[in-house]
Amino acid sequence: MSGKILNPVTNHYEFSGTIGVFLITFGLPIVMIGFQLLVSREYLIQGINLKIDLVKSQIYNIGWKQLSLDKNVWLAYLSWFSILAVFDVGLPGKKLKGIKLRDGTKLDYNINGLLFTSLFVVVVGIRYKITNGLLPELQFLYNNHLSFIIVSIIFSFILSTFIYLNSFIPLVKKNGFNTKERILSINGNTGNWFYDWFIGRELNPRFGSFDIKLFVELRPGLLLWLLINLSCLHHQYLSKGYVCNSLVLINVLEGFYAFDGVLNEEGVLSMMDITTDGFGFMLIFGSLSLVPFTYSLQSRYLVLNEVNLGPVNIVFILALFFAGYYIFHSSNKQKSDFRNGLLDDKHYKFIQTKTGSKLLCDGWWALSQHINYFGDWLIAWSWCLPTGFNTPLTYYYVIYFATLLLHRQVRDSAKCEAKYGETWRLYTSKVPYKIIPYVY
Ligand code: NDP
Repeated sequence: MSGKILNPVTNHYEFSGTIGVFLITFGLPIVMIGFQLLVSREYLIQGINLKIDLVKSQIYNIGWKQLSLDKNVWLAYLSWFSILAVFDVGLPGKKLKGIKLRDGTKLDYNINGLLFTSLFVVVVGIRYKITNGLLPELQFLYNNHLSFIIVSIIFSFILSTFIYLNSFIPLVKKNGFNTKERILSINGNTGNWFYDWFIGRELNPRFGSFDIKLFVELRPGLLLWLLINLSCLHHQYLSKGYVCNSLVLINVLEGFYAFDGVLNEEGVLSMMDITTDGFGFMLIFGSLSLVPFTYSLQSRYLVLNEVNLGPVNIVFILALFFAGYYIFHSSNKQKSDFRNGLLDDKHYKFIQTKTGSKLLCDGWWALSQHINYFGDWLIAWSWCLPTGFNTPLTYYYVIYFATLLLHRQVRDSAKCEAKYGETWRLYTSKVPYKIIPYVY
């Protein structure tokens, strides 16, 4: 297959091109650090008046001190990343094939999330027993939170650069003669180095059997998010002798979501992140920094700003979470079962496309084009509401996630329109709502 056909040049720029990508690359880490400083200082965040002079003094007092990066934090972070990578490669799992790639091949995946997570829980449990619940690692994580953020950001820059440069090295087949072209992302092959570095030039970089993209997406960031939540629980208990119920609720709900993701891990193989997006700063920074350190903002806030929820509020938040989870989970399952031929075609309305794929327009998928996003967004609310209404900062996640899902819907629609053409337009005329039924 000629190189041109295998890796077409990308002509369309997303995120308003280089300027947008530049602002995201350098703006988001700054915003992320700012949020952390604000959220961990209770007197700064009452009401919506964020006092800029106090923020500055916080950045000066805490930020600069921690910028002199403790080598122990680097050691801990790199050990964390490497040990997880070794386990990711070494632990046995279910062997699955990915979707068909442009060169006609399918990648092999080793889906070992269940074993991986079980081992993780056992290790945390053993440490808990040995240390009588003191867990110095969690306290270290809590005490050095800002340093960990900065380390994860720097590491994301380094890894993205390494992966970008690596994408230019031709693959050499085992016989040592035949070079094989890497499959590049449809979106990240503009030739503009900064833009491609951000979007990700190569689609699925691998080192032997180690699929670094799937690993980064599912392991170090997600598990760190849970550990940060746990470290907040641990710190509050050690410093006060009790834990407020909102913090427990957030730990339980987010833990449930993350473990559910692990149980349904193979679903990720057909997601846009794996099938379409390249592996670049966008995905690396998103998974390694943004997920663990901003998804845990609510827990960080609750450590210093206790909120004790009454029974009615707890029941409401639980109901919201499980309603969202039900929509999210059952709609994703319905689509995946339908696509895998596990549902009887005769009982479901669908549109046949010329490529052979079928577009379901029945059940959940008659309500909106991305009813699963709506369920996910309801879940997001249930993670923010336990923090009460004293600050807008802890609602960062619902706003960020809404933006992410809206942008994702636009990208997915453009992809489907290009893939299915007229048939996609027929589908959208039958299922007009994009995410929220009867609203949007
Ligand atoms: P979808 O699960 O909606 O998948 C979109 C793809 O499904 C389309 O590209 C198309 O692919 C196929 N498709 C679209 N409509 C239909 C239909 N009617 N019938 C059959 N197939 C259809 O989107 P995502 O992959 O973006 O998201 C998956 C889940 O992950 C969602 O629940 C989302 O909320 C969640 N998510 C969570 C994030 C987080 O940070 N928590 C981040 C991103 C996503 P094809 O080419 O095969 O036709």
